[in-house]
Amino acid sequence: MKIYADNAATTKMSRTAIEAMLPYLDEIYGNPSSLYSDGQRAKEAIEAAREEIAKVINADPREIIFTSGGSEADNQAILSAAAIGRKSGKLHIISTSIEHHAVLHTLKKLEKEGFQITLLPAHENGIVRTHELEAAIREDTCLVTVMTANNEIGTIQPIREIGEICRKHKIPFHTDAVQAMGHIKVDVVGDNIDMLSASAHKFHGPKGVGFLYVKKGIRPSSLIEGGAQERGRRAGTENVAGIVAMAAALKESVDHMESSAAKLTSIRDRLIEGLSKIPHSALNGDREKRLPSNVSFCFEGIEGEALLLLLDDKGIAASSGSACTSGSLDPSHVLLAIGRVHDVAHGSLRLTPGEDTTDEEVEYIIRSVKEVVDYLRGFSPVWRDLSSGKIKHIL
Ligand SMILES: *Cc1c(COP(=O)(O)O)cnc(C)c1O
Repeated sequence: MKIYADNAATTKMSRTAIEAMLPYLDEIYGNPSSLYSDGQRAKEAIEAAREEIAKVINADPREIIFTSGGSEADNQAILSAAAIGRKSGKLHIISTSIEHHAVLHTLKKLEKEGFQITLLPAHENGIVRTHELEAAIREDTCLVTVMTANNEIGTIQPIREIGEICRKHKIPFHTDAVQAMGHIKVDVVGDNIDMLSASAHKFHGPKGVGFLYVKKGIRPSSLIEGGAQERGRRAGTENVAGIVAMAAALKESVDHMESSAAKLTSIRDRLIEGLSKIPHSALNGDREKRLPSNVSFCFEGIEGEALLLLLDDKGIAASSGSACTSGSLDPSHVLLAIGRVHDVAHGSLRLTPGEDTTDEEVEYIIRSVKEVVDYLRGFSPVWRDLSSGKIKHIL
């Protein structure tokens, strides 16, 4: 059996998106800045994509900047707000301890340049408290940046309330909506959002393309100097095929959002129910306020990496919170932020199945995880100490 359950890492491109992009890799390859008709056809396709995307999030097309993905959009949003803040001596930024590294590392860089950063706690359920956010606001706060939904534990933040608070205090509000876009409803007007980041490969579009929404009245600074593309806000010849495919993928995702969410929620809930029966395990993040496809667990007495490799042997592609890819042994900052101790955070598993996952596959995943967890605990020294009572169970 082959099961892809890592859709939070990236998604397979949809047929619609592939077909939408093909003409722009083939016959319509003109440079959108060129004046002859093939260049202008490419330009028109970009503008049509911009309109489509703007419509989906309830924005004006002029408020959309195409980027190379979510990371670039996050960087540009935060650095733009920081540049504006710097001009008026406002050097304080509020964010959360569970943001993506594209946000956290940009904030770290600003901190070295003299900014003060407040990271709100995400508490045990992985959700920030709006009264704590409001209490953190200062005279010199120049930005609030809080992700719409978390990539590891899937928790959904109270974006609308946060937007209202920011509006009331006249502070720009950015949200990293990379995990949310195409999966849950996002409305920049209704949710009081000033800047928003998204990435195509998280909603069945291609990798290496994304967008940043910047509300009219806020002046974004460009990260890349060069030509006047994107009205001077992002230089470089546009990724025409990628942009066209992104718009097609987003439209398709949003058109089917309700039925997809219903299917995914059912798959998610069966997985959660099945995995909860494994002794000394716990679901990470709020049980209700979470993405339709996110299942995140910690199991005592095992290593997440070993679990992933053995699941891979069984044909299941999943992910763990531990940052083994970066060569570091640090467990996920998100799991630590919601109060998981190091040992427990190491034994994490994230499953983000697709909507086409069958009942049989759901059963197979549950059975496989149980088997592998049992197997690994069989020769885990930590598990031996837990079982003998030498150390106490936490979960
Ligand atoms: C994937 C992801 C990003 C980064 O997007 P890229 O397009 O891969 O650069 C940023 N934030 C969140 C929440 C993500 O899940």
